[in-house]
Amino acid sequence: MVAPGRITADALNAVLSAVRAGVTTLELDAIAEASIRAAGAEPNFMLVPGYRHTICASVNDEVVHGIPGGRVLGAGDIVSIDCGAQFEGWNGDSALTVVLPDASRPDIVAERAELSHVTEQSLWAGIAALSTARHLNQVGEAIEDYVEGKASGGVAYGILEDYVGHGIGRSMHEDPPVFNYRVRGRGPTVKAGLVVAIEPMITLGGSIDTRVHDDEWTVLTADGAAAAHWEHSVAVHDGGIWVLTAHDGGAAGLAPFGVTPVPIA
Ligand code: MG
Ligand code: MG
Repeated sequence: MVAPGRITADALNAVLSAVRAGVTTLELDAIAEASIRAAGAEPNFMLVPGYRHTICASVNDEVVHGIPGGRVLGAGDIVSIDCGAQFEGWNGDSALTVVLPDASRPDIVAERAELSHVTEQSLWAGIAALSTARHLNQVGEAIEDYVEGKASGGVAYGILEDYVGHGIGRSMHEDPPVFNYRVRGRGPTVKAGLVVAIEPMITLGGSIDTRVHDDEWTVLTADGAAAAHWEHSVAVHDGGIWVLTAHDGGAAGLAPFGVTPVPIA
């Protein structure tokens, strides 16, 4: 799963270098598809029945599953890009969020940048927890603890519960579910061979109610608040953990948590 992870990371990097005000989400989709196909891989989102694109692009109050199209990104938008690749029958899945600059609305941009930062760091907190976890649900505990610790001064964050992470392997979506919050029960034992996609989805303001758009895909916050989404595919192996969808295996993201990823031998 190292190869599809790298290919997924490359596609997201390509999108990241192209995302700006004035570009359409369909243009970003084409960039991701070209990157994945150039590597000899296949966009695995297209293997999901009824879905025809390489990425999901979710803007502002859209949380996940936004369909690429003619929407032109604007200054100050918060945009989550989710992407995956299948290579030789194995899958990668990863997502990131960017906030586009807007000099006329510094407060909104700062608030959204902090939302994205908290979401990304909560992902790393969850991955760090996985490195020592005996049971999978310790991941969600760590994510919730991190996010709760960041709520202060009237700023509240909500962790979505309608959508969660998942196992990944021969299929993009496999058991077990990976919760982003504390749940009853410990979950499966964490052991070598487990590969999971961890993907916190966090809203601004604390409400976690969602609705699905008439397009039957796009998930929006019910109250119109902005949302962020970060995701990595992470392997547990005999030597430790390795973040498959990060080029450094997660070294930079995990360093603040005192965790060193170990390459898969
Ligand atoms: Mg994803
Ligand atoms: Mg996923």
